[in-house]
Amino acid sequence: MKCCIIAIGAEVVSGDILNTNGVTIANYLKPYGIKTVMQLTVDDCKKDIVKAIKRGLKKADLVITTGGLGPTYDDITKKAVAKALDRELIRDEYSVEMLNLYFRRAQKPMPQSNLSQCYFPKGSQIVQNPNGTAPACITGTKEGTVMMLPGPPIEVEALLRTEEITSYFDSLKQGEIVETTLKFFGIGESHLEEVLSDYMKKEKNLILAPYAKTGEVQLKITAKGDTREEAITRTNTLKEKLYELVGEYIYTEGDRKLEEVLLDSLKQNGQTLATAESCTGGMIGQMITAIPGSSDSYFGGAITYSNELKQKICNVSSETLSEYGAVSKGTACEMAEGIRLFTGADIGVSVTGIAGPGGGTEEKPVGLVYVGISTCDKTDAFRFHFVGNRDKIRQLSAKNALHLALCASKSLGEIKK
Ligand code: ATP
Repeated sequence: MKCCIIAIGAEVVSGDILNTNGVTIANYLKPYGIKTVMQLTVDDCKKDIVKAIKRGLKKADLVITTGGLGPTYDDITKKAVAKALDRELIRDEYSVEMLNLYFRRAQKPMPQSNLSQCYFPKGSQIVQNPNGTAPACITGTKEGTVMMLPGPPIEVEALLRTEEITSYFDSLKQGEIVETTLKFFGIGESHLEEVLSDYMKKEKNLILAPYAKTGEVQLKITAKGDTREEAITRTNTLKEKLYELVGEYIYTEGDRKLEEVLLDSLKQNGQTLATAESCTGGMIGQMITAIPGSSDSYFGGAITYSNELKQKICNVSSETLSEYGAVSKGTACEMAEGIRLFTGADIGVSVTGIAGPGGGTEEKPVGLVYVGISTCDKTDAFRFHFVGNRDKIRQLSAKNALHLALCASKSLGEIKK
């Protein structure tokens, strides 16, 4: 089944507010197997709303609108839907009763304009609003169904959880849907797509959606089945294949961030971590400490931006600095080892690089970054050449440092076993 979501309201069109309802509803529909195929944003203009509804019904079986159900003159969604569907608007006495009750409870007089909220296209199923005065409604026609929801997200969310709306969607459900996310690091989106290409084309009950984020790729797997077990089996068969082909790049399943996975691994293995950051200026420490409970495994770190501090805190030798420079494998190794020994942590991580836009040379261009990793087992540094602006280079540096720390935590954990 296909859905078109229409966000109605001048403030959404102008960009004054973000259309979060579109995201909420599209995600809400997924477990019911309903695919959102189009989203439109329309001003509070009756003619435009009528056109949008007709367009939505041509493209999809279900159109969901948000906004424009209020009592003011610019709230015209129901009038526009009635026109698009060629239905008259009928007053619903139960809604009038509910509205009176709402105002009596609030100990306020009811403005007459609120009565406009009690008119619905003929033949609609009306759903009372647990968080506001505007009821929602569902109107079925031979062209398709139109569901009208109010604009405030708190009202949309509450309505989507009502018995009436959940059972409406349950009645549309064809089979079961299982969603899983795999997160990859160190593999590009196009490389992953190449690996997946066979499955993306062949399996009609599996939808694979790779999505690239800074430095990583997320793969959303949506499996359909007549039963939940069937959908789970389908997912697991694909997952097994993926672990076989590209398992080394998978760092987690589900929604956890890289820094959360790292902290879990440190905790599981009873390890501690410390950081020495140059070009990332504390970004790694910030990402780690944003996770509650990070103090269990993260000792802390130093922002050793200057050569003096690299020497004083991390004990980087003046020979290394003068012979190879601050951005070098040698300096990264000494920084990582130095911070590990200084703090007594099990793993020391360092970053030194040229984030730009200035400071690059032919030999050491902007984007050249070394990440050092030191454990009691070994100390090494990895060279990267990132492309992008200062912010992107710093983010990629921090994420790669977190990922290398995760690899170090796992292999140190294996050694200790
Ligand atoms: P009411 O008038 O009873 O508040 P309504 O159905 O008329 O409800 P609107 O007037 O269109 O809704 O919107 C009310 C508020 O809801 C807006 O000011 C805005 O803050 C929020 N809102 C509207 N549409 C959206 C949207 N698509 N995404 C997120 N928030 C929205």
